[in-house]
Formats: sequence, structure tokens, C-alpha cells
Amino acid sequence: TAKSEHSGLSLANAGADDDIGRRRLTTLEELRTGLDNGELVLHYQPQLDLGCGTVAGVEALVRWNHPTRGLVYPDGFLALAEHAGLIGRLTMQVLDMAVEQCRAWRDAGLDLTVAVNLSTSNLHDPTLPAYIAATLTRHGVPPAALHLEVTEEILMRDAARATETLAQLRAMGIRLAVDDYGTGYSSLAYLHALPVDDLKLDRAFVGHCDTDPRSAAIVKSTVELAHNLGMRLIAEGVENEAVLDRLRRWDCDLVQGYHLSRPQAPERLTPWLLERQESATTADIAGRA
Ligand code: C2E
Ligand code: MG
Ligand code: MG
Ligand code: MG
Repeated sequence: TAKSEHSGLSLANAGADDDIGRRRLTTLEELRTGLDNGELVLHYQPQLDLGCGTVAGVEALVRWNHPTRGLVYPDGFLALAEHAGLIGRLTMQVLDMAVEQCRAWRDAGLDLTVAVNLSTSNLHDPTLPAYIAATLTRHGVPPAALHLEVTEEILMRDAARATETLAQLRAMGIRLAVDDYGTGYSSLAYLHALPVDDLKLDRAFVGHCDTDPRSAAIVKSTVELAHNLGMRLIAEGVENEAVLDRLRRWDCDLVQGYHLSRPQAPERLTPWLLERQESATTADIAGRA
């Protein structure tokens, strides 16, 4: 049944009599081992600040470096981790790696914010804020350098507790964003009550806003909504220059997408970031001379 598919316990039963169940059970065992062996890695995607034209930060996106299957993307293991109760450990590892990388970039002269995605159940874990505080202290990274992204889904279950955790994180000086904005079910009343700083408009609305008038209307009015609520609007899924042009014209704050850069391993992204910063500084000096 649909219900038993979604509980970690029944994975074993399903595995006994069907292939899909067996495969999921194998994946689950491998994921447990993978978490123990540090097989999770992060790729980072730059976020461009349209106001000043510089890369303001990056979003950390988890991948599983599987010993035989190669790089596995989140849609291949996140739901499983969630259902099997492994998401707490996964998130702790992601936070630790992201904050450590943030420290490394700061040491290299790159003053970047790092955004980490949280799952709904993370916000129901009362130990999360203390873990995050300890992680920031351990790596010597200020809270303002960490951004956290949550989806509207958090408001569906125990909204009061999730909101309290968010308020606690925000009081620490961490910036919060609603991810995939526009695809969930949250009403404007929830948006009004949520203690968040940024809206990340889902790529479903951004992708074709240069050619589709309805997408354009949604983007323009969401920018205005965000600004009127004192929030910033981040556009996801910018895949071409025409879309970027529109977003500039419509006063969008930050953009992310393949047009600027795909998510990349830090070894590849760091030289790109340094080069961009270098040329921005050179242009600035030339401009002042
Ligand atoms: P998201 O947070 O909305 O991240 C954006 C997704 O869109 C990423 O997919 C990214 O690679 C992709 N993307 C970026 N730019 C473009 C573009 O221009 N065009 C298109 N078509 N796609 C673009 P990815 O890395 O596969 O991640 C998928 C989702 O998995 C994320 O969506 C997020 O919800 C979740 N996720 C990723 N990492 C983590 C994590 O560390 N923890 C948790 N809880 N969730 C994560
Ligand atoms: Mg995200
Ligand atoms: Mg998103
Ligand atoms: Mg998404």
C-alpha cells in the first residue's frame, strides 16, 4: 500500500517479495554505510547579486559519491533518507561540510554566504539550533554567512514548532529563505507569519518569463510582494541571457541558474570565483581611475 511504502520499517517486508523493495533496501543499507564513510559531497552553485553584479554567495547541493554507481543526485536518495530517519545525520554532515567550505573561502579572500537546504523534519528537531551554533563556532564562521532554505511544506505539519525553530535560528543572525516559492500550498497568511528574509521563486515561473506573459506577470508581482514584505527575491533556474535581462529590469535581487554556472565541486568552483572577483576588482579600479 502507499502507506507502507512510506515507512522505513516496511522496506524490509517489501524487499522480501519484490524487486523495487529489494533495491530500496539495498540502497538504504548502502546509504547508511555511505553516511558512516563520508560518501556525501557538496556541489555549490553561485548566486549573483544583480544590484552590485558580484557573486554574493553559493547554495550547497548534496550529492552521494556512491562507490559503484558514481555521483547520485538528491532525487535518488533524499526521500529515502527522509523516510528511513537518516535525514538528521545527513543534514548535520551537510552543515558541517558547508560551513567548513565557507571558512576555506573566507581564508582565500572570498567573502561568500553559503545557503544550506533543510528538510521539513529537521525543523522538528529541537537540537538543530544548538548544533548549528556549535558548527559555526567550531569553524569560526559568523552566523550571517549562513543562509538556510526551507520549503513551504514545513508549514503543513506542526507549523507552530517549525516557526519557533525558524525564529530561533533567525535570532542567531542566520538568514532564512523560502525555497521553491510558488509551488507549495502556503497561503498569504502563512507567508505573513513566517520569520523569513528571502523568497526563492521556483524555476517553473522563472524559466520562461522572457517569452511567457503569465510567467512574466508572476515574476513581476512576486518581486513586488517580496519587497513590500521587506524580503529579497531570488530567482532560480535562470538559463539564458534574455531571462536574466528581464529579471534585472524587474528589480529582482539575486539570480541562480545554469546560465551563470551549474553547481560544481569546490575544487572547480573556487578558481572561477577567484577569477570573477579579480576581474570585478580590476573593473572597479579602472572605473575609478
Ligand atoms: P533546490 O534547493 O530548489 O535546488 C535547486 C535545484 O535546481 C538543484 O538541483 C540545482 O542543481 C537545479 N538547478 C540549478 N540551476 C538550474 C537551472 O538553471 N535549470 C535547471 N533545470 N535546474 C537548475 P539538485 O542539486 O538536483 O537538488 C534538487 C533538490 O534537492 C534541491 O532543490 C533541494 O530541495 C534538495 N537538496 C539538495 N541538497 C540538499 C541538502 O543538502 N539537504 C536537503 N534537505 N535537501 C537538499
Ligand atoms: Mg534550495
Ligand atoms: Mg528551489
Ligand atoms: Mg527544489
